Amino acid sequence: MSLNDFLKAPSRAQAALTPALEAKYQTLCARLKEASEEFGQDITFANSLGAEDMLITGCLAEQSLAIPLFVLDTGRLPEPTLNLLAEVQKRWPQLDLQVFYPAPEALQAWVKQEGINAFYRSIELRKSCCALRKLEPLQRALAGKQAWITGLRRAQSITREQLALREWDAAQQLTKINPLFDWEEDEVWQVLRTRHWPYNILHDQGYPSLGCAPCTRAIEPGADPRSGRWWWEQAEQRECGLHPARPTQVTP
Ligand code: SF4
Repeated sequence: MSLNDFLKAPSRAQAALTPALEAKYQTLCARLKEASEEFGQDITFANSLGAEDMLITGCLAEQSLAIPLFVLDTGRLPEPTLNLLAEVQKRWPQLDLQVFYPAPEALQAWVKQEGINAFYRSIELRKSCCALRKLEPLQRALAGKQAWITGLRRAQSITREQLALREWDAAQQLTKINPLFDWEEDEVWQVLRTRHWPYNILHDQGYPSLGCAPCTRAIEPGADPRSGRWWWEQAEQRECGLHPARPTQVTP
C-alpha cells in the first residue's frame, strides 16, 4: 500500500482533526469567507471535482458561503467524475452550481476536420482541443466576474511552485484566489475523511490529478502528481491554459 493509499484508507479516518489541522481548515474557511465578503456574487469557484476542490466545496456547504461555483464538462470526462458531480448536486443542493459545456458547433467542426482523438498528434492540436473544450467554456463561466477561486496547491507540480494565495490573472483579467496554495496532499485527505465528504474514486486507483479520460492515466506511487496528465508531453507543457505555467503577478 502506498503512502497516499494509507492516508486515504477509510480505516485511517480520524474522528477529528488534530488541533493544528483544524486551525488550518478554519483558516481556509476564513479565506473563503473573506473572498465572499469582498466580491459577493462577482466571484466564482472553478470546481474540477478533484480532491482539493471537494475540500473547498465541502467548506462552502458547511459554512453556508454564497459563492457560486461551476464545473466544466468537456464531454470527455470519465464516468466516475460525472458520478461525483451527481453526488455533489444531490448532497448539497443549496450550492449555486452550474455546469458549462463546449460550444457544439465549433467542437463539431474541429472533430470533423482533425479527428476525435487528434490531441495525441501534436501539442498544437492538444491545446486547440483544450481551448474548445475548456478555455472557451471557462470564458463564459468567468464572464462578468471580478475574481475566481481555484483549488491549486504549490506542491502539485513544478509549474505551480510560485503559487500565491492571491494573484492577478493576466490571462483572464481577474483576481485569482488559491486558498489551498500552502496545503499538502495528506492534509486535504485528512479533512475529506474526517468530514466524510465525497471524492472521486479514481483517486483510489492511482489518479492524483484528474482530467479528461483520454488524457489522464494512473501513476506510480511517489511520481510527480501531474505526470499522469498529457504524459506524452514535456512536464513544462502539461497545463491546459486554465492555469498558465508562467506565474501571474502577485497582488497585495
Ligand atoms: S484534456 Fe484532452 S480531451 Fe480534454 S480538452 Fe484537453 S486535449 Fe481535449
